[in-house]
Amino acid sequence: MNNKYKILLVEDELNICNFIRTVLEANSYHIIDTQKAVTGLSLLKSHCPNLVILDLGLPDMDGTDFIREVRTFSNVPILVLSARSNENDKILALDLGANDYVTKPFGIGELLARVRAILRTSRIQELDADSVPQNFTINDLTIVYDTRKITVADQEIKLTQTEYNIVELLSLHAGKVMTYSEIIHKIWGYSDFGSIKKLQVNMANIRKKLGEKPGENKYILNELGVGYRMNSAND
Ligand code: CA
Repeated sequence: MNNKYKILLVEDELNICNFIRTVLEANSYHIIDTQKAVTGLSLLKSHCPNLVILDLGLPDMDGTDFIREVRTFSNVPILVLSARSNENDKILALDLGANDYVTKPFGIGELLARVRAILRTSRIQELDADSVPQNFTINDLTIVYDTRKITVADQEIKLTQTEYNIVELLSLHAGKVMTYSEIIHKIWGYSDFGSIKKLQVNMANIRKKLGEKPGENKYILNELGVGYRMNSAND
């Protein structure tokens, strides 16, 4: 019991809440759940969970306000559950510091994979907060950070500085979706409408150079309307 990951689930729809609880408990997670954001905040402070699964549409507080509040005192990973229609809420949630999202309705396999990926990433960050990894590998793609060299099946890929910076950034957050504005801010340091286009052009060149055919997602996934996600090796 003690070495189980503790997950706080904040979800007001009782049948979804019970469903997620049942599935996660069957996968050896310890679940604390509540239907209210305010209770969620106090449970978070008293139980220090390893992860929060948060429904954005809550009756007593907006989910994005919940994230804003949590980030004033905690770095706990947050996985957001949101309806497909609320694209802007999803982007806002990620920009406010949520780690990932799952769109309702979701498959259990997807939810479990997201949970594992977030817990794995936060565990790596806890274990060596100071050490930067030497390289990154996904399928036949390898990035050597020291030399800023990328190879696919041992063939070196010639990227521009900006293209490399984008791939490196995504790889350092592999498994996590990064929003357009997050990427633009980190690569160019500013955000305007024109730079989304610039990012998309760079991305198209990157995918072409990596040899990704349209519709193929070996390395980088386009989360339509939201951002990009580098696959992580163990998904
Ligand atoms: Ca809800």
